Amino acid sequence: MEHIDVAVIGGGQSGLAAAHALLRRGLRPVVLEASDRATGSWPHYYDSLTLFSPARYSSLPGMPFPGTDRDRYPHRDEVVAYLTTYADRLDAEIRTGCRVTAVRRTGDCFAVEVEGGGQLAARAVVAASGTFGHPHRPALPGLQEFTGQVLQAADYRSPAPFSGRRMVVVGAGNSAVQIAAELAETAHVTLATRGPVKFAAQRILGRDLHFWTARTGLDTAPLGRFLARPPAQPVIDDGRYRAALTAGRPDRRPLFTGVDGARLVWPDGQREEADAIVLATGYRPDLSYLARLDGALDAGGNPQHREGLATGVPGLAFVGLEWQRSLSSNSLRGVGRDAARVARRLAAHLAGR
Ligand SMILES: Cc1cc2nc3c(=O)[nH]c(=O)nc-3n(C[C@H](O)[C@H](O)[C@H](O)COP(=O)(O)OP(=O)(O)OC[C@H]3O[C@@H](n4cnc5c(N)ncnc54)[C@H](O)[C@@H]3O)c2cc1C
Repeated sequence: MEHIDVAVIGGGQSGLAAAHALLRRGLRPVVLEASDRATGSWPHYYDSLTLFSPARYSSLPGMPFPGTDRDRYPHRDEVVAYLTTYADRLDAEIRTGCRVTAVRRTGDCFAVEVEGGGQLAARAVVAASGTFGHPHRPALPGLQEFTGQVLQAADYRSPAPFSGRRMVVVGAGNSAVQIAAELAETAHVTLATRGPVKFAAQRILGRDLHFWTARTGLDTAPLGRFLARPPAQPVIDDGRYRAALTAGRPDRRPLFTGVDGARLVWPDGQREEADAIVLATGYRPDLSYLARLDGALDAGGNPQHREGLATGVPGLAFVGLEWQRSLSSNSLRGVGRDAARVARRLAAHLAGR
């Protein structure tokens, strides 16, 4: 069996930041990426997506986000190009087409099993596989009886196929509101939410929101360990989404209470046909490959960790979890800080300290 220092599972921004930090600690990471390129889930996000974070707050360690206008909000494809260059420049081995199916303990190593039958022995493992492969599907009243189309936000790319149709988008976060507003330009759309949509102004006193979260320390305050579950994020808005909702395009309603074939039952008793429901209801960590590693996950499949270090499995760490340590943990601007912490602790562990 091949022996390596550290297996980094996932070749998105989290895996690349982890590899960068491990290299700086003198370790030799091998990045194992399921897809055919090390750009994470960015190529699969919807076509119109621009970052909510400006270029100056969207860099990984060691390579600034390119472009002279540091205050612009880059498009999804610019992030894909940025990560491609970042991966090319990284002096780490990146194996694409390499999906990890299981991690087990064997003596003082981890056996890392790869789809197709390969196996590696790693002294440490960093799980950096993101959440996009595991969309959350909440138990909504009657949803399984709905005879129209149900899709996840993860499957949504553009409004074109839905032009003229009756659409219901479920969720109150950034993706839900952005997708609903975009669809509402050519379709009849309702945003169905459990509560009111909360907004955060994208610019305050002429500065981007990220300037203020950095300046006040909110971005890096280690609050993650005090949160039983990640709080709902407000919709970052330059004014257009609040205006769209106020104009009723999309309209907002409380969540439907039932389903009757292709018809949704609204709380006021009204029954109305819908063509499709888009579930923009978030994601959960995609860590099923750790299920047979005792102590790695809780009964719900969530990682058991403290600031990224597995609490029950020495030598195992996580990077890129939402609120892993702070507000910025699962962002381009923040993941490098967490990766550096985790790499320092793993290096100490491997050195027997
Ligand atoms: C719609 C949307 C908009 C966002 N906008 C912003 C923004 O503006 N600014 C910002 O900073 N952040 C933003 N984020 C948050 C975050 O930066 C991204 O979600 C980012 O893609 C997370 O990177 P990651 O590397 O943790 O996960 P991913 O990008 O999901 O990468 C994980 C990688 O792991 C691989 N993988 C999964 N399972 C396995 C396995 N078993 N074996 C091997 N490989 C595996 C996957 O193929 C994938 O390449 C946004 C998120 C979403 C969903």
